[in-house]
Amino acid sequence: MSLNLIQILNQENFTRDEIIFLLNLQKEEEIKQLFVKADEIRKIYCGDEVHLRGVIEFSNYCDENCMYCGLRDDNFSISRYRMSPEEIIETAKLISNVGIKTVVLQSGEDGYFDTDMIAYVIYTIKQNSDVAVTLSLGDRGFEEYRNWKIAGADRYLLKHETANPRLYSIYHNGEHLDDRVGHLRYLKSLGYQIGSGNLIGLPSQTIPDLADDILLMHELGVNMAAVGPFIPSPFTPYQNRKHGSVELTLKTMAVTRILLKDVHIPATTALDSLDNFGREKGLNCGANVVMPNFTPHPYRENYTIYSNKRGINDDPELVHKSILNRIQSIGRKISHTRGDSPKLNINI
Ligand code: SAM
Ligand code: SF4
Repeated sequence: MSLNLIQILNQENFTRDEIIFLLNLQKEEEIKQLFVKADEIRKIYCGDEVHLRGVIEFSNYCDENCMYCGLRDDNFSISRYRMSPEEIIETAKLISNVGIKTVVLQSGEDGYFDTDMIAYVIYTIKQNSDVAVTLSLGDRGFEEYRNWKIAGADRYLLKHETANPRLYSIYHNGEHLDDRVGHLRYLKSLGYQIGSGNLIGLPSQTIPDLADDILLMHELGVNMAAVGPFIPSPFTPYQNRKHGSVELTLKTMAVTRILLKDVHIPATTALDSLDNFGREKGLNCGANVVMPNFTPHPYRENYTIYSNKRGINDDPELVHKSILNRIQSIGRKISHTRGDSPKLNINI
C-alpha cells in the first residue's frame, strides 16, 4: 500500500513505518509540507512564545567515555575546570536578573559534586530567585535524584541518545539502554519534568533507529524532546566521522512535534553550530525553546563537547542579546514565564 503524505500528516498517531516514510521524504515540496504541519502543531499546543533556559556548564570533568563526546574521560587534550558553588549561584542570579526563569545546571558525570553539594546549589538558587532548576548531570544515583528533588530541582534532562540497544552499548562502553530508560522512568516517578533526546547522524545509525527514538520519547511521555545533530570532536574515537545532517535533524524535530504535540523542543546550539540560521530553522520546524549558554569565561571555552561550538568564545550577555534579536526577527515572542511543561497544566 502506498503512503499518502497529506493523509498521514492529518493522523493523530503514526506507525513506525509512517515515521520512517516521513523521515525519508526527499522532495522539497513534501519536506516543506512536513515543516508547515510541525509549525502549525507547535502553534496550537505551545503558542508563539519561545522559552529561554539559561545554561551553566559548571564542570567539564567526566567519569564516562561516551565515544562521541569531547568531554570523555580519556580526552587528555582539554583543560578541565570546576566552577565553585558560589560561582554557580552567582551565575544563576545573573540569569534570573536578565529575566530568564529557568536555570540549567549541566556538567560531565562528575562525582566531585556530590549529593550534598548539588543539593546546596539547588536550594540556594531557589531561595535567591523565582526560577525553575533543571539538572543535566548524566546518570547519577537514585537516592541523589530523590534528594535533589527535595532540595527543589524541577526538571532533569537525560538524553537516551539512541533507542537502538546495540548502538547504545557501543557508544557507551557496554552500558545498557534499559538502564538509561530506567533512570528516566524513575525521575518521572519522583515528579521531575523529564527531558530526553537523541543525536542525529551517529556512526551506523539508520532512519528506522530515528523512528524508534521518536517512539521511545512518545512512550516515555517526555516533557522535553531534545533532537540535535552529532558533530565530531577531536581526540575522540569518532573524530573523523561526518556530522549529522541539518535537514534530517529538522525532519526529526518536525515529526517529533507532530506526534508528541504538547512537548518542549529546543532549537539546539549544535544545530546552530552547523548552520548560520540553525536556530531560526529549528524554531520554524516545531521548536519552542532556546538554551543560551551563560557559562562565564574562562570556563566556557573549555566545555568543548564538539568542534566549532557556536558562541563558545563570545560574552554570555552578547550571545543572549543576539538570541533575543534572532527570535524576534522571525516574529516569535520571548516568554517571561518559567515555561513549565504544557502537559502539567499548572501555573506556578
Ligand atoms: N554529562 C551529561 C549527559 O551526558 O547527559 C550532560 C552533559 S553532555 C555534554 C550533554 C549532551 O551533549 C549529551 O546528552 C549529548 O547528546 C551531547 N553531546 C555530546 N557529544 C556530542 C557531539 N559530539 N555532538 C553533539 N552533541 C553531543
Ligand atoms: Fe560525559 Fe555527558 Fe560527554 Fe558522556 S555525553 S562523555 S556523560 S559529558
